[in-house]
Amino acid sequence: MKTSSKAYKIMADGYNFIPQKKWEQTPTGYYIVPIDQLDIKRSRTDENGTATIVRCTCPDCSDSRKRSHQNEPCVRLDMTTGLGKCYNCGFHFIISTKVKALSRHQPVRKENWKLPRTDHLKPLDAVAIDYLMKRGIRPETAKKAGVCSAHRVIGGTERHCLAFTFREGTKVVNIQYKTTDKLFAMEPDCEIIPWNIDACIGQESIIITEGMMDALALMELGYDNVISVSNGADTELRTFNRFRYSHFDSLKTIYLAGDMDEAGEQLRTKLAEYFGEARCRTVEWRIEQEDGESFAEKDANDMLTAHGADAVMQCINHAQPCPITGVETVANYREKLFDIWQNGIQPGKKVGWGEFDDLVQFEPGRSTIIVGEPNTGKSTFADDLVLNLALLHNWKAAIYSPEMFPPERHIARLATTIAGRQFRKEKVTTQRGVDYRQTAIPQPMAERIVDWLEENIFFVTEEKGRTIHMLLHRAEQLQQRYGIQQLLLDPFNYIQLPDGAKSDTMKIGDVLAEIELFAHRTGLFVIVVVHPSKPQKGEQIESIYNASGSAEFRNRADYGLVLVNDDNANRSQGSPSQLHLLKVIVDKVRDDAMGHKGICHLSFDAENYRHGAVRTEHLTDQLNQYRVLPISAHCWLDRSEQQQLAFEAPDPEDDMPF
Ligand SMILES: [Zn+2]
Repeated sequence: MKTSSKAYKIMADGYNFIPQKKWEQTPTGYYIVPIDQLDIKRSRTDENGTATIVRCTCPDCSDSRKRSHQNEPCVRLDMTTGLGKCYNCGFHFIISTKVKALSRHQPVRKENWKLPRTDHLKPLDAVAIDYLMKRGIRPETAKKAGVCSAHRVIGGTERHCLAFTFREGTKVVNIQYKTTDKLFAMEPDCEIIPWNIDACIGQESIIITEGMMDALALMELGYDNVISVSNGADTELRTFNRFRYSHFDSLKTIYLAGDMDEAGEQLRTKLAEYFGEARCRTVEWRIEQEDGESFAEKDANDMLTAHGADAVMQCINHAQPCPITGVETVANYREKLFDIWQNGIQPGKKVGWGEFDDLVQFEPGRSTIIVGEPNTGKSTFADDLVLNLALLHNWKAAIYSPEMFPPERHIARLATTIAGRQFRKEKVTTQRGVDYRQTAIPQPMAERIVDWLEENIFFVTEEKGRTIHMLLHRAEQLQQRYGIQQLLLDPFNYIQLPDGAKSDTMKIGDVLAEIELFAHRTGLFVIVVVHPSKPQKGEQIESIYNASGSAEFRNRADYGLVLVNDDNANRSQGSPSQLHLLKVIVDKVRDDAMGHKGICHLSFDAENYRHGAVRTEHLTDQLNQYRVLPISAHCWLDRSEQQQLAFEAPDPEDDMPF
């Protein structure tokens, strides 16, 4: 029976509020009270002495109450927003001077929402009351919170429902219908707002639940500062936006009291970020007993029905401060700090290249950018660097170098570097038409080299994509399975930049940021080879700012190396002339414990792709000459063996046949 008299009766029953006096109303249904009608009894002030939350008598009901109650400060009023709420009669109002500010902060009806009809709502009937009682909730509590009974078509069938009214001021903004078997429906085209939103008015703290039944469970215990998100864990946070200033700003504590499942966890995290973690507390529906045992329930309502009111209150009282995401305290680093205090910073790894080692040492979790003119052998330099770090420090490596094609020839080059001579079975020299063949790399050595490469060097391919995300993902998998320590990306421009409207410069910056974060997170040492931008006429490449595409290369790199051909540099007498000279500009070392800016020279042997130490000799202030030291042609894998055998045999390279 839907009659208007029945609807009126529901309102008169307290389902909707009708004031005793005549007041003007705001569009959202707050009654406007002239400021001179306030009778403030108590006030709380902030550090500047400004009143924040005050208690006053109710402009609507106090003078009609029993004489003994007429002076009772039954209203909590937030002086910042001007919103007040009477806890005796339920009068919601705003003081006249704050109306403008409210409408400024709370754009109303921007989206042309409808208001739902309410004339079909009925007082809680027997079925509803039975359901509520089984959930530990008395009908009075539900009634006070605006819960009604209704029939509603859900899924094509008319169903008996609990109807939760979403109210703001005096208006019913939306209604959620819930069947006893937990089917839901909301009113179409009506605004979705948090349930019981006005419970925030005049409060210092609020409890947010993941559903209305949980909110009712807390109200059952006497909490009057409870709201619920509108749509469980899937609730969109923009449903809070309109109330941010008017209802949430002045709250000091927000209890996040959602469900104890993964979705609930995600909602808590979302809400904490939205409101600011500092004022949020996490309620866990778990009780730790004195005997060390603990028991947990899914939500507030389950805790209430299973363990009673005290258990629920205990959970609220033990709410813990929310962790603040994205920050850390020194406590996280205590152990590592005392390690530094006692032992100093772990020295970085050296490569074995003389003056180069003096300038720069490498450590895990860092990124290095290598820039060089075309034909300076950037890739060969990078490969040699990777191999040295792998051999000397057991830093297994992943290499992404699509330009080095086909892969077997690239691997043969790496094998050549390790062997110290061409990775060939025989070396052939031709003299006067006669071939002189000599064994270059005997079978056992070849196998040892290939075995070592198989175990220590891995290759990242372009299969299934070459976005930075895909490439780094593969490197991380190699780290987890094989324990790689370094990653070479050569060259940068083979990495596919992300889609989107940003400029290439910005996209490059994003990719570099991702590489940097990846290095920090995984502890991998990442080397990136970058082509230079086209130099202006006569311009020399001397800084990582010459890297093509973005200044971010220099900004983001932990180490920046620039390679320049310097074959014409002045060599000391007796320096081997067949070796090339390479100027290495160490343009950046972010951490001064790992080296410093400077320039050094390296030699390069085109026969085996090895680099070697060069000693700088200062002739005058202006003039240097370079002493190129010979580059060994011994197989590296024999190095340790060689050192052990040094006392026993004059020539440990006994795999040479003569
Ligand atoms: Zn009142």
